[in-house]
Amino acid sequence: MDRQQEFVLRTLEERDIRFIRLWFTDVLGFLKSVAVAPAELEGAFAEGIGFDGSAIQGFARVYEADMIAKPDPATFQVLPWRAESPGTARMFCDILMPDGTPSFADPRYVLKRALGKAADLGFTFYTHPEIEFFLLKNLPEDGTEPEPVDAGGYFDHTPHSAAHDFRRNAIMMLEAMGISVEFSHHEGAPGQQEIDLRYADALTTADNIMTFRLVMKEVALEQGVWASFMPKPFTEHPGSGMHTHMSLFEGDRNAFYEPGAEYQLSKVARAFIAGLLRHAAEITAVTNQFVNSYKRLWGGVGASAGAGGEAPSYICWGHNNRSALVRVPMYKPQKGHSTRIEFRSVDTAANPYLAFAAILGAGLKGIEEGYELPPGAEDDVWALTPAERRALGIKPLPQSLDEAIAAMEQSELMADVLGEHVFDFFLRNKRAEWEEYRRHVTEYERKRYIAVL
Ligand code: GLN
Ligand code: MG
Ligand code: MG
Ligand code: MG
Repeated sequence: MDRQQEFVLRTLEERDIRFIRLWFTDVLGFLKSVAVAPAELEGAFAEGIGFDGSAIQGFARVYEADMIAKPDPATFQVLPWRAESPGTARMFCDILMPDGTPSFADPRYVLKRALGKAADLGFTFYTHPEIEFFLLKNLPEDGTEPEPVDAGGYFDHTPHSAAHDFRRNAIMMLEAMGISVEFSHHEGAPGQQEIDLRYADALTTADNIMTFRLVMKEVALEQGVWASFMPKPFTEHPGSGMHTHMSLFEGDRNAFYEPGAEYQLSKVARAFIAGLLRHAAEITAVTNQFVNSYKRLWGGVGASAGAGGEAPSYICWGHNNRSALVRVPMYKPQKGHSTRIEFRSVDTAANPYLAFAAILGAGLKGIEEGYELPPGAEDDVWALTPAERRALGIKPLPQSLDEAIAAMEQSELMADVLGEHVFDFFLRNKRAEWEEYRRHVTEYERKRYIAVL
């Protein structure tokens, strides 16, 4: 047994922890959990816990169903909302095949593989997500609009409101689990919140995002409200993005930083952005994986802000241009290590492991192939006419799940990054989702057509 495992076993005794939840994530990004008793843990560290993989979305076919969940002791945390004695803790797991090799279906392994590739090139990948979501008074299941907890807007201070107490409790709970928060504020839509996590290596960030979603739901329930990570619950209000800031480090040097270069962006950073742009359409099915995601990716500000509310819909980059897919935030002189780029299409319902793997894969491809970065778009690309955008070579992001699937199907990069198993499952699952959606005649159509046609 190694020292981390010993530490976990000791903590269980010292803190009277009776339940250990072993967590992992299915291919679509849903958290799975199995609770084990402390006496089982030594065996779990040594051999893992067996489960039926065919019952998990995207994991295994029925004839090869046996899989093993092996807890990662570095992710051990006591759950603060189960703090009373006896307590509950959790660990994330790696998924293995019965012969002990990693499962190709495990999203955490997909990300580890991508990070391994970055490491081969000498890089560590850091991410910092801005997570937006809604706090709602109800979750109607009949398809009617939910009621937000407040009528606040961007950066509004709403004293004595549910949102204010909520953010305070939520942040304290995240910090109690070792997840540092940098900023939090009310977002643009009624009931919409944003909490930004401090940057960390991408595997830790992805684990933290999975924890974050659960913590938000738990804290909301404590206050008698609901948290939802649906990308676009309201027609008239902006949706919820998960803009992701990222950088590559070589040791303790930020490889995106070059003093004196334009926007202090190194060649590595420029090629990384070029990779993101060239492969943007191919990775969109993963960064924006639901039919509903594409109701958000409909940019625009001002009068049309209700529709998209600063979500990108064109493939371009810009310095401090909020309509761009990739934004280079304002840099602070003397703060070279904070040089980073912001990728803005990802939404709050993406599987963070797969999304980070796809983004990193696209960026590394740019570096490996030495892609040239096209000129930045310093104009508001939403305000340009289609002809102006064409002249500038600015293409739209996929406008529906259908278009995103079509782009991904052709992508060698995505087949490579996700591995054949996840690539095939994902496309099959998303195609089925699109077909299911497509056959529905909506309220919108009946309202619009029945009387006039
Ligand atoms: N909600 C917007 C989106 O969906 C972002 C708004 C903002 O953070 N400026 O991406
Ligand atoms: Mg923000
Ligand atoms: Mg925001
Ligand atoms: Mg942002």
